[in-house]
Amino acid sequence: MGIKAAIIGFGGMGSFHAKQIKEISSIQVVGVYDINPERVFMAVEKGYKGYKTLEECLLDDIELVIIAVPNNFHRELAIKALNAGKHVICEKPVMMNSQELEDVLEVAKLQDKVFTVHQNRRWDKDFRIVKEAFDKKLIGEPFYIESRVQGSKGVPGDWRCVKEAGGGMLLDWGVHLLDQILWLVDSPVTEIYAHLLSVKFKDVDDNFKVLIKFKNNLSVLIEVDTYTFIPLPRWHISTNSGTLVINDWECNGKILKANQVEFKWEEGIVHTSAGPTKTMAPRPVETIDEIPLPEMNPDCKDYYVNVAKAIRGDQELIVTPNQALRVMKIIDAIFKSAKSGECIKGADIYEN
Ligand code: NAD
Repeated sequence: MGIKAAIIGFGGMGSFHAKQIKEISSIQVVGVYDINPERVFMAVEKGYKGYKTLEECLLDDIELVIIAVPNNFHRELAIKALNAGKHVICEKPVMMNSQELEDVLEVAKLQDKVFTVHQNRRWDKDFRIVKEAFDKKLIGEPFYIESRVQGSKGVPGDWRCVKEAGGGMLLDWGVHLLDQILWLVDSPVTEIYAHLLSVKFKDVDDNFKVLIKFKNNLSVLIEVDTYTFIPLPRWHISTNSGTLVINDWECNGKILKANQVEFKWEEGIVHTSAGPTKTMAPRPVETIDEIPLPEMNPDCKDYYVNVAKAIRGDQELIVTPNQALRVMKIIDAIFKSAKSGECIKGADIYEN
């Protein structure tokens, strides 16, 4: 039998956890607590134990608690679960800010329990393609990355559009894209500059742009939009020898790379559809190779498998508390930059 777990919050994500975990043997969800009795009833109908109170849940014979409630309740519930002697998987964004996370990590340390964040998008296919291209050096030395997600329906009209609940796209999607980039790039962050826009929901950011500079000189644009009807590519990566593009969630895209064929500038002015220009005239096709994107088939259930092994002391956590803290510190800096209009600098704070 696997590690016995309870889920707190049986909404969209709580139900997703239950479904995913059913497919692995090392964790077993036994019960569910939700502040809404109707959601507890739904869980009971699916065969789980339904707890009437949080106390009843935390007193049960379980080792692991999975927190899947709106963001403003993460801190309180994580501390209660850790103090009850449970290991904790917390949904993203792990907390509302870095101070809240530091409070929780102190308790996790005191109680000697595993605390981790469900950064499941580290297992996204598009991201793993990019990571593979980076790690295997398929694309040369990157100097600029654009990572974005864009929808056109706005922010779902629930707690996600309420500031006090931790709404807004930076905490919702931004945390995933930041976590991916910080896992990818092995260098400290030196600069952060952000625009948070409130196009339809005045209380929260419903579109944002963040520019991050790393000590190794790499620049990254992270962009989350909810009012874009014609999306730009999910990934666009410029390197000193080529370009990688992933257009969409289906991972259509390619790598174009300069090959060994010698490239010579033309004599005199070149007339192109861009007018008279040498710089923007197309590169001769014989100097370019097209390389397919690497094949990757990640499984986000591996996240739970890793957490179970970490609880048993058999493996290091993949999503560590320190990584989560770095992400939250950068989110703090993004809010600060957006409010002040300033570029935030400080390699010492954002070490990897
Ligand atoms: P949701 O509104 O669908 O569900 C939240 C549930 O929590 C509801 O059933 C609600 O009754 C319950 N709840 C609220 N306050 C509670 C409390 N104090 N105690 C117990 N239960 C409480 O929201 P959701 O979409 O499931 O989001 C929940 C969390 O999951 C959020 O932190 C969100 O950011 C995260 N999330 C993560 C991903 C991901 O891909 N990792 C995707 C969606 C949501």
